[in-house]
Amino acid sequence: MQIRRLRLSGFKSFVDPADLRIEPGLTGIVGPNGCGKSNLLEALRWAMGENSPKSMRGAGMEDVIFAGTGSRPQRDFAEVSILAEQVAGEAEEVEVVRRIERGAGSAYRINGRDVRAKDVALLFADAATGAHSPALVSQGKIGAVIAAKPAERRQMLEEAAGIAGLHVRRKDAEQR
Ligand code: ATP
Ligand code: MG
Repeated sequence: MQIRRLRLSGFKSFVDPADLRIEPGLTGIVGPNGCGKSNLLEALRWAMGENSPKSMRGAGMEDVIFAGTGSRPQRDFAEVSILAEQVAGEAEEVEVVRRIERGAGSAYRINGRDVRAKDVALLFADAATGAHSPALVSQGKIGAVIAAKPAERRQMLEEAAGIAGLHVRRKDAEQR
């Protein structure tokens, strides 16, 4: 899976709609401290289903919504869209959207259809990526890999190998 585009609106410091095209190859994001570089990576993880406010550097999930500044009022929702190309046989485009509204929680869409958080998790797990993918290295993550218990490290390897989705499906089947 290759991410081609990231669109944000009302997400953290990105109050105005932002549209980032990600070209093949290496992309670097540069800018002064506090300009929103880490927020971009968090937007990616959030749209993939990240549900820990702490790992999004907030106290609650609604903290991802633009909180307002001296000159601009807060927003009532945040939305992030990931446009990706899946290369399973023939290349196929998939758009994943997550939206959160104050007091109303999160909703997900895949290619315009309302879906469950689990469907989004499965989509990314099958593509060997996701909110907890070892490919997304945030601050402190290197230390966490070194200090991880063997079982935790196995989980990281399984996600990297793209078989995490199988565990979700097995658990699902066992509950029926
Ligand atoms: P550094 O180079 O220091 O790592 P950075 O470019 O990674 O900086 P970020 O951490 O992505 O910067 O952005 C931090 C900025 O985002 C801060 O100015 C903070 O006030 C702003 N911010 C975070 N959450 C919100 C929110 N909910 N509403 C408005 N602004 C927010
Ligand atoms: Mg940063």
